[in-house]
Amino acid sequence: MPGHPNEDQVNHILKEVVDELLLPWHGVFYTHTAECPQGRSVSLAVLPAVCDAEGAHSLSGFASHEHTYFCVRCLLPKNDIHNLKPETWPRRDLEEHRKVASLWRDAPSIADRDKIFKDYGVRWSELLRLPYWNPITFTLIDSMHMGYLGLFSTHIRKIWKMDAEKPKSVGPDGVPSIPPLTYEGVVIDDGHEEDEASQASDSDVVCELIWEDSKNTVLPSWIDAPPHNWGTKAAGKLSADEWKVVCSISLVVTLIRVWGYKYQHDPQSRHYQLLLNFLDMVHAIQLLNLHETSSQIRQDYHSLILKYLRTVLILFPDVSLKPNHHYVIHIAEDLELMGPVHAHNTPVFERTNHTLQELNSNQHLGKCCVDEDKD
Ligand SMILES: [Zn+2]
Repeated sequence: MPGHPNEDQVNHILKEVVDELLLPWHGVFYTHTAECPQGRSVSLAVLPAVCDAEGAHSLSGFASHEHTYFCVRCLLPKNDIHNLKPETWPRRDLEEHRKVASLWRDAPSIADRDKIFKDYGVRWSELLRLPYWNPITFTLIDSMHMGYLGLFSTHIRKIWKMDAEKPKSVGPDGVPSIPPLTYEGVVIDDGHEEDEASQASDSDVVCELIWEDSKNTVLPSWIDAPPHNWGTKAAGKLSADEWKVVCSISLVVTLIRVWGYKYQHDPQSRHYQLLLNFLDMVHAIQLLNLHETSSQIRQDYHSLILKYLRTVLILFPDVSLKPNHHYVIHIAEDLELMGPVHAHNTPVFERTNHTLQELNSNQHLGKCCVDEDKD
């Protein structure tokens, strides 16, 4: 389907899928199988729906990340997004959700539907016809979008403000700088303030040092190196895998050398605090993407991600957290419910999407033109 389907189009397609899924949920009897010559009963259920945030919300009948109620798991209002105490977040209730979704479905007019959606951030999804479907639990935001394309990208482009598209983030020679080093008036510790002149000079050269180190770093054969001049317009947008290498290898190697060793004698310095904050994020995402999970791993992830976010608010007082920062806290629940993320993330489906997008199309669903003269 060309472009993004709207809510009605999603439900139109989902209806066909749900019709197919209802039959095997109630059970199908195969009269003969390879292992059961006397036949056997089979039941089938679909549990997690894994998408990027936009797709997940749309599929399951939730409002987008821009709505007051931006989260599929809880009802924390968006104006309280800096609340980093998960135990205080009011949880969504399945019964209440089904009630509101049914109200939306049965509303007598479009205006009534719009009002319900505006007030509650909920609309009907055909998936609710599946008797076992729990949209609050089974709607998963993909870890690749949440981590590499979300958390990593946001930290570099929105929090550090290294953005080739923003002139202030690029030096006169086109090299991206890291402006937070020159933040004015930010004090990490009472009575301690960085020398702004030295910060500015460090900021100018740090990206070139990262590029230089990247050229000299020998990566395993199964890891593709990002463009050597990543961060510039010429290098273009980074893929999820490239963000992963930039943040979890290139920046770790160089920033520990440049900020870590130089400022280790002064752990309260801004450079050192920025480094620790960055490493907390990288460590958390590494734990999230392990091929195994345990209560200890989940607990470590949860602690690290909260520590990272709380420190971001201290180090960057003018930064507002994004909905994705809230979602990455909830994802520890997915690890417990659904197991390690490699079993349910989307890279393989993204590759299929990419292949489909590369096909020539007339953009008219279900219609093709045949040139009869060529027969
Ligand atoms: Zn939430």
